[in-house]
Amino acid sequence: MAQYTMTIGGKPVVTTNTFNVVNPADETVVAACPEGTVALVDEAILSARSAFPSWAALPDAERVTKLLAIADLIEKHHPELSELVTREQGKTQSGPGANLEVGGAVAWTRVTAGLSIAEETIQDDKSGKIVLRRKPVGVVASITPWNWPLMIAVWHVMPAIRVGCTVVIKPSPFTPLSTLRLVELMNQVLPPGVINIVTGGVEVGNHLTNHTGIDKIVFTGSIATGKKVMGSAAQNLKRVTLELGGNDAGVVLPGTRIEPLLEKLFWGCFINAGQTCAALKRLYVHEDQYDEVVKKFAEYVAKIPVGNGLDPKNLIGPLSNQMQLDKVIALVEDARTRGAKIVTGGTRPKAPGFFFPLTVIADAVDDMRVVKEEQFGPVIPIVKYKTVDEAIKRANSLDVGLGGSVWGNDPHEAARYAGQLECGTAWVNQHGTLHPMAPFGGVKCSGIGVEFNLDGLKEYTTVQVVNVAL
Ligand code: NAD
Repeated sequence: MAQYTMTIGGKPVVTTNTFNVVNPADETVVAACPEGTVALVDEAILSARSAFPSWAALPDAERVTKLLAIADLIEKHHPELSELVTREQGKTQSGPGANLEVGGAVAWTRVTAGLSIAEETIQDDKSGKIVLRRKPVGVVASITPWNWPLMIAVWHVMPAIRVGCTVVIKPSPFTPLSTLRLVELMNQVLPPGVINIVTGGVEVGNHLTNHTGIDKIVFTGSIATGKKVMGSAAQNLKRVTLELGGNDAGVVLPGTRIEPLLEKLFWGCFINAGQTCAALKRLYVHEDQYDEVVKKFAEYVAKIPVGNGLDPKNLIGPLSNQMQLDKVIALVEDARTRGAKIVTGGTRPKAPGFFFPLTVIADAVDDMRVVKEEQFGPVIPIVKYKTVDEAIKRANSLDVGLGGSVWGNDPHEAARYAGQLECGTAWVNQHGTLHPMAPFGGVKCSGIGVEFNLDGLKEYTTVQVVNVAL
């Protein structure tokens, strides 16, 4: 079994205490993970603080070169990282799974390397010169979830490092291994202390977010934890970027030819077994077309192979952990007992692993838990509507707003309706596709701030205005 270590100040850290990382496909142990402590958090922050002045002072071009070298290293280790992601998280090797995750990590690192924030001249005349520049915010704490562990780590740390910040990252205890390996690889390129990693759960995360040695927190995870993180940030007014949960609605416009859209609709709902923040989580369909869409979609869904992600014939893997599986089962049972119809799936197989079948729920209504709560699993409730305006209103009725989508024959008409959705990204005839140059983030309780492109980069900086009288 491979050994994994934390990295602090450029050095590997082993601990006597470890915890097991479990393969969700068969419940075997993937590896024993070293267990972080609050003392190691202190050490990691100290090391990031001492690395910060010289890293921030480096010429921009040198940081670009190092980021590009990191992208090459991730690419070189693609097969190893991809397999590790499947083993610790469950997503498949085939389809948009672990290979997409590692490929995305490389692409986002390269694109981030290529970004640069220009100085802005606000006034330049006889009376004076005013220049706006951006400085790295300082030491960043990154806290990541278990659904796309490697990709989300890259989204957090690359922009931070690009602008001159140093980082302490804490991955989810469910999926720490690919991040431990990523940080180990990054330390082959970066000076000691620029990126440090401490594993652990609530105690370690809480200590990190409360620590006055941290200047900014970038957090991706649930809304409940996001609120706690924001409370901890208030201690010394740390900057925050919060990428939180969503409950994305999709609205199928009346009369939409559904067959050509089934594949995109499928991946919009079920990518990574539905464990994706911006997956489609409730689908609104016009009453005249409801039965047809339910039938055709359920038939499509029922044919998709689900199983161990290491087997190339499978396109969807298990839920990532027992906790998430229990949540999904509870939401489906609630819908079933309240009169919803399980058209396909719905019952957990009697076999090892945290599997739940791809499930389509018809006759779902807005006040069922599976509609109003984020299910974060391979389950899609389909809800009936009478008018498009009413569907948009119901789509907007929750206190979350990460993504949303409108599906129709005329993409321009659909785009007009999509613009009425209260969410950070509104898609047309697709859902959940991301682009490294398109800022991504949520409105309402789905988050604060954005990631990607210059808007995302600026979140790791503070503004300084230099105002010179001439
Ligand atoms: P979670 O909130 O339970 O955990 C996220 C991270 O926070 C983990 O590393 C965890 O150990 C840590 N943590 C837990 N309590 C903490 C505390 N008190 N202080 C500091 N850190 C603490 O979320 P999860 O279950 O890992 O992830 C699933 C959730 O993440 C879903 O709601 C999903 O929608 C959301 N998510 C959002 C995005 C996005 O970009 N908006 C992306 C992926 C996942």
